[in-house]
Amino acid sequence: MPTYEYVFESVLDKVRAHEKWFSECLPLVASENLASKRVRQVLSSDLGHRYAEGWPGERVYAGCKYIDEIELLAISLGKRLFKADFIDVRPTSGVVANLAVYSALSNAGDTMLALSIPNGGHISHGKRDFSGSAGLVHSLQVEYFAFDKDEMNIDVDESKKRIKALAKPAKLAMFGGSLFLFPHPVRELADVIREGGGTVCYDAAHVAGLIAGGRFQDPLREGAQVMTFSTHKTLFGPQGGAIVSAGEFVEELKKGVFPGTTSNHHLNNVAGKALLFAEFLQFGRGYSRDVVKNAQVLANELARLGEKVLGEKNGYTKSHQVAVDVTKYSDGGTIEKLLEEQNLIINRQLIPGDLQAGRHYTNPGGIRLGVAELTRLGMGKGEMKEVAKIIHLAMEGRSKREVASRVKELRKGFQTVKYAFGESPAYFFR
Ligand SMILES: *Cc1c(COP(=O)(O)O)cnc(C)c1O
Repeated sequence: MPTYEYVFESVLDKVRAHEKWFSECLPLVASENLASKRVRQVLSSDLGHRYAEGWPGERVYAGCKYIDEIELLAISLGKRLFKADFIDVRPTSGVVANLAVYSALSNAGDTMLALSIPNGGHISHGKRDFSGSAGLVHSLQVEYFAFDKDEMNIDVDESKKRIKALAKPAKLAMFGGSLFLFPHPVRELADVIREGGGTVCYDAAHVAGLIAGGRFQDPLREGAQVMTFSTHKTLFGPQGGAIVSAGEFVEELKKGVFPGTTSNHHLNNVAGKALLFAEFLQFGRGYSRDVVKNAQVLANELARLGEKVLGEKNGYTKSHQVAVDVTKYSDGGTIEKLLEEQNLIINRQLIPGDLQAGRHYTNPGGIRLGVAELTRLGMGKGEMKEVAKIIHLAMEGRSKREVASRVKELRKGFQTVKYAFGESPAYFFR
């Protein structure tokens, strides 16, 4: 049995080592970002110890008078940011937000339309056979949108045919995904989904920041009735989730969140979300413009260096993500590991055609790069070109020493969080 002192020192040592390592890496995981110092301060406040089940003013716990004021502020800022009549800031993650929507708007056995995982869908949209939350937890029958590999987008005409031919019309349609390069055809498909009695939902886990910043599509204005998102991917807040709607399904959604899928929500995170929304109202437009520009520079430079970047037909990307087919080297799992050894933190990605080619999630054909975090650290066009060269060198596997020293050199000048109020170091422990 280790002593407490030993445990304390070990944990702290590892935290310090982690932060030092990350401060010398290029963090390119598309679902990650950095929160500002002030968000991190409220996350460690006493709010993180409290219970406040229910809606502000209708809590089933005492002690909530300030918590209620904070949550109402988060609600009013969130509604403004997403131009939405309703927001629920309580879901503790994007998956919980999706489960709340499934519970609110469908019954077990209903059909839901979504993308398959190699085409960009998320495990929370997945079938029971793959232990996806939609199938496993809510017993939805998942049917897939048709997908066009060249466009790297949903195929509108083929999807219309599939939707009309469904034996049991879709009760829900979930747009959005995890591999998400181009805006989805919500406007083109909303009518046929609604004519069949379905509700149009949009999972903005990845792209919520780009939507709020006016640099992607605007689902609630294009026919989506409900939108879920994570607050920590292109949004740069605490890890958490939320649901917005244009004023529809308010009571159903609230019940889907509580008591449906959460008892207590995380009140320190609600405070962090309020600060996030205020930061984003101030800095979100410039930040999201820079994120998309950076992704485009990175994609173009990788293509120029001879990498097989997906989505060429449409200019590679209109989001924060870049996807690369790495089958000419090996597979995404091998490349992920090779790059990690050289302080490039990226992730493997199933890409269209992988399953047919016998590739699975351990050894998929692609990698996914996200530039939201590097953008928040202040990197721009020049740095993106260097990032592309470093990744290319690392994948070719020639000089690990050269890669490591170029990564370290590049990171030196980028150690604080930008697009934030006040000074905001990126790391506190190293
Ligand atoms: C990341 C992601 C989620 C889940 O978000 P968490 O906050 O990690 O629970 C849901 N949907 C999609 C499309 C995602 O990419």
